[in-house]
Amino acid sequence: MGEVRSRMVPRVLFEVRCPGCAALGWCPCAGCIASLAGPEPALVQGADSVALLFAHEGVGREFVHAFKYRGERAIARWLGDSLALAHLAARDATAAIDPTAIDAAAIDPAAIDPAAIDPAAIDPAAIDMVTWAPTTAAHRRARGFDQAETLARSTARALGVRPAKLLRRVGSAAQSGASREVRLAGPRFEGRSRAGGCRVLLVDDVVTTGATLRAATAALVGAGAQAVHVAACARRGRDRVPAAA
Ligand SMILES: [Zn+2]
Repeated sequence: MGEVRSRMVPRVLFEVRCPGCAALGWCPCAGCIASLAGPEPALVQGADSVALLFAHEGVGREFVHAFKYRGERAIARWLGDSLALAHLAARDATAAIDPTAIDAAAIDPAAIDPAAIDPAAIDPAAIDMVTWAPTTAAHRRARGFDQAETLARSTARALGVRPAKLLRRVGSAAQSGASREVRLAGPRFEGRSRAGGCRVLLVDDVVTTGATLRAATAALVGAGAQAVHVAACARRGRDRVPAAA
């Protein structure tokens, strides 16, 4: 009897499905990853670099919904890994076009005396903490978790950096009913003093107008953060950013 039961452990518990096409065994599958649409650029005033994974449409929207509304862990893990890689690429690209930026990744490894290396200078992430812009208390209650926090923790794990709650949402009232100016200004945040002197990676799920990330970046800078990098999964294309003249 015991043997039969042990053989009948429901394997479905360990199975994953691709949120894009429901294929069994991969989350997500290579075909869906290849079909992701590239994001339009987003400008986040005050941020040192901005990394975006894909457009919030088609398969990309399915990836976000699987994680945001159904709490699927496998896709949260993949998104965290991808955000970590996208952040490193965006940071290095930004550093490459700014000759005044001092970046450990830009140093020729052959020219380095190993004995003279400062361990802090070879941190692959070149950041101290990963944080997020907290969602409203109402959203957190409804979903049972803060999707931005989950993403930030997954990204921090991939980078080998600490996740830290560095922001507090000021006023939890919903944006609906507020004046147009207030809605356009987006939510307000307060940065914690722990952010002082730190290089921070700010993680979020979806970027629409960028108001949330802009407010969160300003709050971190206001709290004394030395650098604020931004990484988000999906870009909604409704508000197109004009091409640089
Ligand atoms: Zn798929």
